[in-house]
Amino acid sequence: MRFWIGIDDTDSRKGMCTTYLAVLLMEEIKKIGKVIGFPRLIRLNPTIPFKTRGNGAVSFLAEIEDLDQALEITERLVKKYAELEDENTNPGVVFVEEEKAPLLREFSEKAIKDVLRIEDALELIEKNRIDHLKFKNGRGLIGALASVGAQLNDIVYELIAYRMPEKIGKPREYDKESFYDLDFEFYPKIFDTVDWCNDVVMAVPGTPCPVLFGLRGEEPEILKKALNYVKTEPWERWQIFITNHATDMHIINSEKVEDFHSYRLISRVVKKPYEIVGGHVFFEVKTNSGTLKCSAFEPTKQFRNIVRALIPGDVVELYGSVKNNTLNLEKLRIVELAKKYVELNPLCPGCGKRMESAGKEQGFRCRNCKTKATEKIKIEVPRRLEPGFYEVPPCARRHLTKPLIRINASGRHIFR
Ligand SMILES: [Zn+2]
Repeated sequence: MRFWIGIDDTDSRKGMCTTYLAVLLMEEIKKIGKVIGFPRLIRLNPTIPFKTRGNGAVSFLAEIEDLDQALEITERLVKKYAELEDENTNPGVVFVEEEKAPLLREFSEKAIKDVLRIEDALELIEKNRIDHLKFKNGRGLIGALASVGAQLNDIVYELIAYRMPEKIGKPREYDKESFYDLDFEFYPKIFDTVDWCNDVVMAVPGTPCPVLFGLRGEEPEILKKALNYVKTEPWERWQIFITNHATDMHIINSEKVEDFHSYRLISRVVKKPYEIVGGHVFFEVKTNSGTLKCSAFEPTKQFRNIVRALIPGDVVELYGSVKNNTLNLEKLRIVELAKKYVELNPLCPGCGKRMESAGKEQGFRCRNCKTKATEKIKIEVPRRLEPGFYEVPPCARRHLTKPLIRINASGRHIFR
């Protein structure tokens, strides 16, 4: 029989990675059955408060004769490798008969865009009689089900290479230049490998997990080819995943915003951008349902220059996640720029020089020609911005955020 096996929440801040455990599980399942196609790495709602690192769940399709044996193998692996001693690690595994997977679509959609409770997962499991393994409070069941049920209209492949077990926890050894070479050769088929402007290799994580590097691209064959370019410590193994990375799958089109959700909405800037200590930039917009505070935090680097140049009256399309009633920007489209003026003292009609103030509320005068004027003059000044799309740089990008290089639109200002 064919089953979708979904697994989530096996890692902690201190170690492990659900993708790695899933790869080990695939290898065990291959001994008693068959694994069909690529595994799927599905990122869920990135704003969820109790998420583990990255909030990604994995699923794969397998042909299994003996389900009990598969469950036994899985339980043994999770007990051996998951970070069970961490109170925030609550693994869940589901075995969903292939034809039942479409029944999980709606649930999955919610897990990516909305907030779900463990009870919602247990209810769905009971209703559809889904075989599963629940460890501790079983929060991982949410992701496990969501990964199986996700209906992907847009996909990106990710090749993940894993470290030799004895290296895990130690600093990663790699040649930075080789990743820049790779980017130079394969961009945009492979993207977000490095951040040129901020000098960061995005492909190599800094966490104490088994991942050595991850390459994100449009085609599996090109990702395999790119392996020849990277110079790193030896890897133990690698695996290609189908993912919803870089697809904006978390974004909801709505005017009404709530915490812990991500949106795309058009609005007008009503409050001039201001900066607070730490380099975080804020401004306010007016939506159909009220005023909304927007932010570009310090880690968004050069993107803040775009935000700083906004003025009241600008019409913008915002993309980002809402937390603490603040929309944290991932992307921005400037739809329409307001006219910007400066106010200057008037020019003297006699000599052409700029007049000076004649005193408080006394208007303006030219000392030489004795001419007078009552009001300042408004002069339109050019904006330092142009309409179009702007995005945060790769080093500040979320897994789910669709980079502009993947968006077919005019006026893209790509941060590579
Ligand atoms: Zn004059």
